[in-house]
Amino acid sequence: MQRSEKVLVVGGTGLVGKALQRHKPQWEYFGSSMGDLRKFNEVLQMIEFVKPTAVINLAARVGGIRQNIMRQGEFLYDNCMMGLNVIEACRQAGVSRLLTALSTCAWPDKVSKYPMKEQDIHEGAPTPTNISYGYSKRLLHVASCAYRDQYDLNYSTFAPSNVYGPEDNFDELTSHFVPACIRKFHKNQSGRVELWGTGKPKRQQLFVDDLAKAMPILLESHNTHDPLIIAPDENLSISEMANVVKDVTGSSASISYNQQMEGQLRKDGSNAMFKSMTEGFKFTPFKEGVEMTYDWFKRTKI
Ligand code: NAP
Repeated sequence: MQRSEKVLVVGGTGLVGKALQRHKPQWEYFGSSMGDLRKFNEVLQMIEFVKPTAVINLAARVGGIRQNIMRQGEFLYDNCMMGLNVIEACRQAGVSRLLTALSTCAWPDKVSKYPMKEQDIHEGAPTPTNISYGYSKRLLHVASCAYRDQYDLNYSTFAPSNVYGPEDNFDELTSHFVPACIRKFHKNQSGRVELWGTGKPKRQQLFVDDLAKAMPILLESHNTHDPLIIAPDENLSISEMANVVKDVTGSSASISYNQQMEGQLRKDGSNAMFKSMTEGFKFTPFKEGVEMTYDWFKRTKI
């Protein structure tokens, strides 16, 4: 980015936004207290007031598997409205660069060949446990492409795999797998820890600071229709990850799986396109990321 560039990050007060703030403190970060992105006039006013040259949209209703099932209507409405409002307000306000966050949850439940690639995104329905969130993110990919084509704007999208790290949500009911697991093992240094599902599904867990390091590069150089996948090389099963967390937290608890609410078995995405754009990019190994997250948890949550 040139010195004269002014970047506004909406949805900039959550897990990913706070990590980006550590890397790019000179950018502007707005959360819901600065305006409700579901209301078009508020979004337009916000963008016209800041007059950014580039916008990153990180705003979303995000949750673990339980929230995705129980709040399907809200997730669909909020994510579609926020995303479309930001795109249209950017166009009306004359912002020529917009980078919108999708998620690999938008990809089909199953693809014919793994890892999933950018071009597979619309090949089949997302997994039933993520159907609303997944389709809302797909819509934002379609919208971004449509605006590129019709208005000749540099609007593009990127899709992180599962993200974890400092500032994550550790709430008992609404957290994602890694923070939930850290909280459970921390609380149960012995005895038994019960986890959802069977332990078999595999996930690429992306350390949030890796994503924060990648985003400024993408803002500069990702100017295509591709919903660029950002995912680490490691693709570990839930049970492998649980053992890492158990080790890092020093717990000796035994692990049992309750066989309920099993997520998608595989959703590993290819990072080949991402790596070709970010030569030499190094992903944080899962164990190191969990150590840093657990340190943060102990300093702030206890
Ligand atoms: P998060 O922690 O839940 O933060 C969400 C952000 O959206 C916050 O800044 C929140 O503001 C804002 N927001 C929510 N509703 C709003 C509204 N009605 N009006 C204005 N702002 C609103 O989410 P995250 O984990 O940082 O995720 C960032 C992006 O990455 C999202 O697009 C998400 O879909 C994507 N992503 C996340 C993951 C993951 O595992 N976390 C994985 C893949 C992709 P307040 O703080 O004021 O509530």
